Amino acid sequence: MQHFTPAEKRYIEDCYEDFIKEIRNKFDDERLARIEKAFRFANAAHEGIRRKSGEPYIIHPIAVTKIVAKDIGLGATSIVAAILHDVVEDTEYRISDIETMFGEKVAKIVDGLTKLSGDFDSRQALTLKKMLMTLSEDVRVILIKIADRLHNMQTLESMPPNKRMKTASETLFLYVPLAHRLGLYTIKTELEELSFKYKHPEEYNQTIYLLHNQEEKRNYLINEFIRPIKEKLTHENFDCEVTHRLKSSYSIWQKMQNKGVSFNEIYDILAIRIVIKPNPDISEKRQCFDVLSIVTDIYKPKPDRIRDWINLPKVNGYESLHVTVMGPQGKWVEVQIRTERMDEIANRGFASHYRYKDISTFENELETWIERIRDHLKNPDTDAFEFLDDFKLDLYGSDINVFTPKGEMVSVPKGSTVIDFAYEIHSDLGNKCIGAKINQKLVPVSHILQNGDQIEILTSKNQIPKPEWLKFTTTAKARSKIKDAFKLEKNKHIEKGKIIVEAAIIQSGVPLTSNNLKKITGHYNLNNKDQLYSEVGMGFIDLKDINEILVRKSENKLVKYWNITFGGKKKGGSGKEQSDTATSKKSKSKIDRKKPFILKENQDNVTFSLAKCCNPIPGDEVLGYLSTDDHVIIHKTDCPVLDKYISNQGEKVITAEWTKFKKQSYLTRLVLEGFDRLGIVNQVTNIISNENNINMRSVQFDTTDGIFKGELFLYIHNTEDLNNLISQLKKIKGIENVSRIKNLND
Ligand code: MN
Repeated sequence: MQHFTPAEKRYIEDCYEDFIKEIRNKFDDERLARIEKAFRFANAAHEGIRRKSGEPYIIHPIAVTKIVAKDIGLGATSIVAAILHDVVEDTEYRISDIETMFGEKVAKIVDGLTKLSGDFDSRQALTLKKMLMTLSEDVRVILIKIADRLHNMQTLESMPPNKRMKTASETLFLYVPLAHRLGLYTIKTELEELSFKYKHPEEYNQTIYLLHNQEEKRNYLINEFIRPIKEKLTHENFDCEVTHRLKSSYSIWQKMQNKGVSFNEIYDILAIRIVIKPNPDISEKRQCFDVLSIVTDIYKPKPDRIRDWINLPKVNGYESLHVTVMGPQGKWVEVQIRTERMDEIANRGFASHYRYKDISTFENELETWIERIRDHLKNPDTDAFEFLDDFKLDLYGSDINVFTPKGEMVSVPKGSTVIDFAYEIHSDLGNKCIGAKINQKLVPVSHILQNGDQIEILTSKNQIPKPEWLKFTTTAKARSKIKDAFKLEKNKHIEKGKIIVEAAIIQSGVPLTSNNLKKITGHYNLNNKDQLYSEVGMGFIDLKDINEILVRKSENKLVKYWNITFGGKKKGGSGKEQSDTATSKKSKSKIDRKKPFILKENQDNVTFSLAKCCNPIPGDEVLGYLSTDDHVIIHKTDCPVLDKYISNQGEKVITAEWTKFKKQSYLTRLVLEGFDRLGIVNQVTNIISNENNINMRSVQFDTTDGIFKGELFLYIHNTEDLNNLISQLKKIKGIENVSRIKNLND
């Protein structure tokens, strides 16, 4: 330990002073004295300790406290707990010391925070479980934890690169959905942006550049759009602030990825927000609808695009009116209308309810939500990994409201089915469910519920839970109940599945070796053979591609077809191998997790396969997941499945590097769009087949009203070849867009 220099001590005092200045007028002297006492205590406890960046450690708790006080808006008890949040974790002091000095309430919160820290490496699922249990006790613990994470993300720069990647993945996986669920939209967005920046620096910079590049033009459009609205509002005596908001670079990038569209094709980059300072004599709701009517008098609304979260607020408390209207430049623009109170809830979520004293309604809703997952939390048998999967569905889904036959309102996640609803009401109702009557019509168990549906569950005493129900259940509660019903049967499924798998391997004419089994588990992204057996045994996997997985083909039929029909030439030697598993004789060798895993075309002692969820090709940014001691599954760094592994089995995720891949080729999907023109198809195929000598598995071209669309499945060696090809295709006259789609199936 090295004592702080006088300059460092001054810096600490300055940081603290800055913080106090900002909150001073919100607290009385007694509270300010408690905050001061906590700071002096924490400062002495962390004396001489530095962060990775070299900064005095105490700067971190001060920064976290600032977020807790300013961005979340919590009170003095939380502020004191935030200043002390790392004292027990990192110094000799104990919880009992905190209790003696600062009282029981503060000690409880600090204790909760201390329990949530510690080794996060591979136990994220457990951590999440713990967090949610804490959430049902005191939500302030989670709010401070999120502030803690936000500051760690803000200062991630000083961490080594592999640590950055891991922390960023974890943040996206756990903290972003939690912040979303608690309605902390501003913090959620910042967490997403920071994760994006560290996980995908190039794409991040590119998106930021594109956004910046259009700024001037955009500002002009915004002013043109807003002017008539402002005039009318003033004329009608509304006291409003009209602002605009840009979609975050992360959500733009997500949309580009998911829909395979370019930056220019995203039309809702911009939203206009009208925040009303309400007239106290008229209801807030009425004033919002009056403003809506003013806006739609000026601009035509898009049918079905008026969202009313005032009459039915979201479960996290969000209230607002959204309408999409046609702007003067022929572009759709989203307008959000709300009062100052609603705006504060939208930005700060849960905490703002403290201020507006309507905490009880919100706590009831939070309680309902926690109730939904509580059984799941209590169940000690739940596999942590499964738990994460099921739970994530609940965290992210926005909710809809449906009704029981008696007219009671029940919130369920969007996309819920009849079976989800039945389990929501009671597990017996779920177990015996055979269908439902919705608005007087009979529907099957798999029917997806709509907002406002009134549902009567139909049961039969002979019904038992079915494994296929898992295919269309969304809520964690339903999934865990159905799985519980099967756990008892699990061994039976494994035995049954084993027989099916072994028979299928033998039938495809290859020996029954562990290597071949690994190819199959790798193909379906499973962790081990028992998982494979039980999935097969329950009928989730039908093994119909087993021949493709196990047997390499010398030449693909469609390639031949292509050559005959279109006269594509195939030069000898290259592009023949289409297998995605590099294998050879197996010898006992462990993988060194400390070093990057080197991907070679002819791997000698370990095997790897390319994940089916993201379909990487050589040259892509990738990481490996150790499925067994000597088998690695390669995923693209932006693959959501990988995020799950990093968050829950971080020690099994290793870095990986490609060597030159020249012989083998990998299936890749491209989509082309443009304006149809005579000969365009020929030009495309000529570039692919003749100029680049690339094999095609299938091609499909469609033209509707002059717009040309093509979908190509090609065998590509590596990203270098792919990027060359894409840039050549983009140069063809009429082609507007060429993009790679990571999913090969949908
Ligand atoms: Mn901390």
